[in-house]
Amino acid sequence: MLNIRHLTKKFGSLVAVDNLNLAVAKGETVVIMGPSGCGKSTTIRTINRLIEPDAGSVLVDGVEMTQLDDTGLRHMRKRIGYVFQQFNLINRLSAVENVMLGLVMGGQSKEAAYDKAVAALTKVGMEQFREHKPGQLSGGQQQRVGIARALAFEPELMLWDEPTASLDPMLVREVLVVMEELAKYRAATMLVVTHEIAFALHVADRIVLMEKGTIVEAGVPSQVFVNPVSHVGCQYKELIE
Ligand code: ADP
Ligand code: MG
Repeated sequence: MLNIRHLTKKFGSLVAVDNLNLAVAKGETVVIMGPSGCGKSTTIRTINRLIEPDAGSVLVDGVEMTQLDDTGLRHMRKRIGYVFQQFNLINRLSAVENVMLGLVMGGQSKEAAYDKAVAALTKVGMEQFREHKPGQLSGGQQQRVGIARALAFEPELMLWDEPTASLDPMLVREVLVVMEELAKYRAATMLVVTHEIAFALHVADRIVLMEKGTIVEAGVPSQVFVNPVSHVGCQYKELIE
C-alpha cells in the first residue's frame, strides 16, 4: 500500500529525513516512534506532499506521489486520511458540518455528505454529539470528530501524527480506543506516529524506530521492545521495565 524509497528532506543544511526506506502492506498498522526532532512528522508529511521531498520515491498503492500534478495530487489526497495533533475544527460549524465540509467541497451533495458524516461520527462514537459545536466538546471528543472527518472519505491509507499529544491525560484513552478499533478491523492501512508505548505494544503489527532522520530498527513489538538492537530501542525497553 505504501512504499517509501530513499526519501530525503533537508531544511537548509539540516537533514531531517535521510535516505529513508519503509514499506507498509495493505491493512497493516505500523507505529513510528523516536525522540523529538528525529524526522517523524517530516516523513509523514512528505507522503501526501504537505512537505515536498528533496529526493526519493513515495508510492501509494502503486501511484508515484512525487510525480503527480495538482489534479492527481488532489485525487490521491482523498484516498489518504490525515489526523494530526491539532484538531483544526471550524468553531462556528457543528460536528456533523465539520465532517461534511470536505465531502461537499469535493462535489458531493449535502444529503450524501450528511449520511456519510453521520456514519463516520457513529464509527467514533460521536453520533449523539453531531449538532454540538467544537467549543461544547472535550478535547478527546474534538479529536474523535477530527478522526471522523478523515474516515468520511473512506481512506485506504491513514496517516496519524501524534493524535493524542495535545490531549489531557484523562482524554487520551478514548482516542486510542477508536484508533485500536480501526486497526483491528483493518479498514485502512495505518501509519501512526505516537509516543503511546502501550498502544504500540498492543496494536502495532510492526514498530519502526527512528533516530536522526533514519530508521534504526523495525520489527514486531515483542522483538523491538524485548530484544532491541538500537540505542533508541534500548531506551524504550528501559521505559517499559
Ligand atoms: P519529529 O516529528 O520526529 O519531532 P520533525 O520531522 O518535525 O521531527 O523534524 C525533524 C527535524 O527537522 C527537526 O530538527 C526539526 O527542527 C526540523 N524541521 C522540521 N520542520 C522544519 C521546517 N519547516 N524548517 C526548518 N526545520 C524544520
Ligand atoms: Mg512531530
